[in-house]
Amino acid sequence: MNYATIKNCDIANGPGVRVSLFVSGCTHRCPGCFNEVAWDFDYGEPFTEAVMDSILEMLRPDYIRGLTLLGGEPFEPQNQGPVVELLRRIKEEMPEKSIWAFSGYLFDQDILSGRIGDCREYLSYLDVLVDGPFVLAKKNLSLRFRGSENQRLIDVPASLAAGEVVLWEDWQGEKKGIK
Ligand code: SF4
Repeated sequence: MNYATIKNCDIANGPGVRVSLFVSGCTHRCPGCFNEVAWDFDYGEPFTEAVMDSILEMLRPDYIRGLTLLGGEPFEPQNQGPVVELLRRIKEEMPEKSIWAFSGYLFDQDILSGRIGDCREYLSYLDVLVDGPFVLAKKNLSLRFRGSENQRLIDVPASLAAGEVVLWEDWQGEKKGIK
């Protein structure tokens, strides 16, 4: 896997101050995509063990709430292995850090169903998934953490426990301590 960018102090893609990893490669090709250069799986730099080590170090300060995965597409089948390896290391060393992910795939139809591979371990590490492609006709700049109205903020642990999609709400997330 290649990655396009890493931000060590991101306040736009999830609550609090976060580290953001923008992976390379996306097959959705949404018109109006915010990061078209990252559609190419060969864009950017190789995602090596040293890069993972540096992300773990960026996550260590107390003021960093967690990691956000964006792209590109962090759920493309060829990107899943390296991302899961990173998440496994984070959860082993810093289980208190929250994990958010943005995907153009749908939580229920594509990810939970197994259509794009067995994502059970991947999902077990996620707190919130923002799912669905960016739809230009449904673009709404007033939405928090989303680009278009079709996209959903999903509380992943609650959804897995309930066996159906449970939406994450800001107040609910704060109340439940979802970081
Ligand atoms: S899923 Fe995201 S990265 Fe991929 S084309 Fe759509 S907006 Fe761009």
